[in-house]
Amino acid sequence: METCVFCKIGRGEIPSSKVYEDENVLAFLDISPIKKGHTLVIPKEHHETITDVPDILLQEVIVAVKSIAMAVMRATGAGGINLILSMHDVAGQTVPHAHFHIIPRHEGDGLKHWPQGKYEESERDEYVEKIRNALDSDGGDGRTEQ
Ligand code: AMP
Ligand code: ZN
Repeated sequence: METCVFCKIGRGEIPSSKVYEDENVLAFLDISPIKKGHTLVIPKEHHETITDVPDILLQEVIVAVKSIAMAVMRATGAGGINLILSMHDVAGQTVPHAHFHIIPRHEGDGLKHWPQGKYEESERDEYVEKIRNALDSDGGDGRTEQ
């Protein structure tokens, strides 16, 4: 049996503030919200990242994300939403059970977007080629050996 914290929430072994549940999908408040109303949406089945989630289940999750995001907006009076998903440690994933963050946003709420950079002309072509090649050779887990 999976010992991960979100599986335990799914089995009711640790408490959570559930906002939505169906056979395969669960949504609950993040315990340390970036903004109040910050909600997590997970497949109940344990998969480390979305690339591990079977497509049919991922479709159910993303459709739930859509309606829960709209509900979070209505409930919090937010003008917008950030939908965030961190994949693997290096990207800041701390719970190894795939989950979407729904974060309500209000005008002047103090959250900042990440800084953006620039490409040199040749670099842009290089990245296009690398990504197209990686798509061609996609082994299914979304990660390509360097
Ligand atoms: P991430 O960093 O993308 O893996 O997100 C994991 C999120 O799970 C963090 O925002 C945590 O605050 C949240 N979290 C961890 N444990 C719990 C819990 N027991 N109940 C609700 N949220 C949790
Ligand atoms: Zn799990």
